[in-house]
Amino acid sequence: MAKTNHFMELALAEARSAGARGEVPIGAVLVLGDAVIAKAGNRTRELNDVTAHAEIAAIRMACEALGQERLTGADLYVTLEPCTMCAAAISFARIRRLYYGAEDPKGGGVDNGVRFYRQPTCHHAPEVYSGMAERDAADILREFFQLKRVEN
Ligand SMILES: [Zn+2]
Repeated sequence: MAKTNHFMELALAEARSAGARGEVPIGAVLVLGDAVIAKAGNRTRELNDVTAHAEIAAIRMACEALGQERLTGADLYVTLEPCTMCAAAISFARIRRLYYGAEDPKGGGVDNGVRFYRQPTCHHAPEVYSGMAERDAADILREFFQLKRVEN
């Protein structure tokens, strides 16, 4: 359990640094065995790319580093419940386990919305562990949006 907490802490650090760059503060870390193979935060504004969510960025980085299309056996830690796009990418990458922090009733696609992994058209579902460091993950997002409101 200690190791999984450590990896989620790394994801939270990625979320905070995304927030500091003016991005929506969500972070993701990919782990294979005990090794971190990618860490990323949201980069949609920086790249003008709606697909540059933290999960997608981490998957791209890990696939490039390993020189392979899939990440069979890798585990993904992300601070917020993945959206439908990311849930699908996680499935396509054959990720083994998904650990996420806060639930996202408005935009999530795992335990909310389309519940991607429960559909018959989903051919690989990771094991899902939710609610890790949930309070911290939710606080980072809430503080970011509160600050935005004050600024605007
Ligand atoms: Zn996403």
